[in-house]
Amino acid sequence: MSLNDPFIMMPGDAVAKIAGSALSGGSLVLRLASADDLYVVRAVETAKDTRLPVEVPREYAALRSGDPSRAAQWIRVAPNDAHVHHLLLSRRPGTAIEFKDFKELVPGVSDPGRNLGVVVTHDPELPPELLEVGASKFAGWAVRRSGVQPLHIAIEPETVGLNQLAGRWPIEQLATNSVMVVGCGSIGSSAAEALAGYGVGRVELVDPDRFLWHNMLRHTLGAESVGRHKVAAMKDHLAQHWPQQTVVPHRLDVVADAHYIRPIVDRVDLVLCAADGIAPRRVVSHLSRRARKPAILACVLDNGSIGEVIRLRPTPRFGCLLCLRQHLGNQKAMDAEADQELDYGTGNVHQPMTAVPPDLRYVGTFAAKLAVATLLESLHGDHTQQIPGEHAIIGLRPAGDLAAPFDLGQAGDVRWASIPEPSASCATCSAE
Ligand SMILES: [Zn+2]
Repeated sequence: MSLNDPFIMMPGDAVAKIAGSALSGGSLVLRLASADDLYVVRAVETAKDTRLPVEVPREYAALRSGDPSRAAQWIRVAPNDAHVHHLLLSRRPGTAIEFKDFKELVPGVSDPGRNLGVVVTHDPELPPELLEVGASKFAGWAVRRSGVQPLHIAIEPETVGLNQLAGRWPIEQLATNSVMVVGCGSIGSSAAEALAGYGVGRVELVDPDRFLWHNMLRHTLGAESVGRHKVAAMKDHLAQHWPQQTVVPHRLDVVADAHYIRPIVDRVDLVLCAADGIAPRRVVSHLSRRARKPAILACVLDNGSIGEVIRLRPTPRFGCLLCLRQHLGNQKAMDAEADQELDYGTGNVHQPMTAVPPDLRYVGTFAAKLAVATLLESLHGDHTQQIPGEHAIIGLRPAGDLAAPFDLGQAGDVRWASIPEPSASCATCSAE
C-alpha cells in the first residue's frame, strides 16, 4: 500500500448489499471526505443497472460527509487464492502483483487504462483458517496497469461497542445492574463514564448544578455543554459513547431533596458518591445504610495531594462513614470531610479546587472500578473481583506530611485498610 492510495471505509450496509446481491460484480460509488483523505462506499450496484445508496447511521458524521467522486468496482471471486495473495502482499509493503496475474485471479476486473482502478473483492467462501490468520472476506485493491497492490479497506464489523466484550467480560450480568452517582463534577462524571464503559445497565445521575465555564478544565464535558444542567448534559454525553446504557438524570440536591433521593437509593444496586462536603457524604452514608445498599465514596483531600475511596457495606462487620471518621479521629487523623470545606460546618463554602484534572479522573475511574467489583462479587459471585480492603488512600501529589493513614509518600501508591465495626453510639448503624 502506498501512502497516496485511498483509505476506504465500507459501512455495514455496503457489506450487506454486496453479500446479498445476486450479481457476480458491479459498480460502487465512493465518496471522498477530502479533509480526512478518506473514501466511503456510498452506493452499490445490487442488480443490473440498479445502484442503491448505502445507509450510514447518523452518528457516523465523518462517514456521511464529502461528495460522490469516484467510481469503483466490486467483484465476487470464485474460491481461489486472491485473498491469500492480498494477505501476503499486505504484509510486505511496496510489493505488487502484475496486472495479468491479478486478472487471472479476478477475471472481472476492468482495465484501468492510465488511471488507478479501485476494486473491492468479496470471497464469501473464504475458509475459517484463513480468517483466523488475518485474511478477510472483503479485500481492497489498487489496480494499475503497472501492477496491483492491496489497498487499505476497513470493513464495519457485525459487532461494535460493548457487545465486543461478550464472553470476555460479564456485560450481560452488569446490564441488569444500576448505580446512582451523586455529584456530577470532575470525579462523578469520570465515574459515570467508567460505569457505563464497564457495562452497568442503568446509571442514575444526581446533581442540582449547571455546568459553568470554570468546570470545563476538570470535566468530561466540554464547551458545548456550558450553561446546561450537568445531569442532562452528561446523559447526552454518555448516550453518544454508550448508547446501550440507560442514563437517568435527576436535578436534585442529595441533602435538600433527601425524600426524593430515598426511592432512587431503594431501586439501585449501589450508590457512588462523588459530591464533596460534609453533608452530602453523610446523607449518602446514612440513606444507603438504611436501604441496605453498598456505597462508594470518592474524593480528593489536602488540595488534591491524595485521593480517598471508601466502600461502605451494610453489614455488622463494617460501620458507616461516621464510624470510620470517629475511629480515625481517635487516631488524630485528618478530618477528611472538614478538609473539603473551607468554612467548617456550613456545608456551603468549598475550598477552591486545586487538584489536577487527570488525578480527579483517576480517582473517579478507581471508584467506578470498586463499584463494579462490588456488584460482580456480591451479586454475581465473581470472586476474581474481591478488593483488598474497604478504605483506599491514593497518592496523587503526596507531600508525606499528613498523619496516618493519610501519610503516603509516593505518587501512584494505594494504601488499603479495613474500616471499623459499627460504633455502639452511631445513630446510623445502631438503628439496625
Ligand atoms: Zn455508623
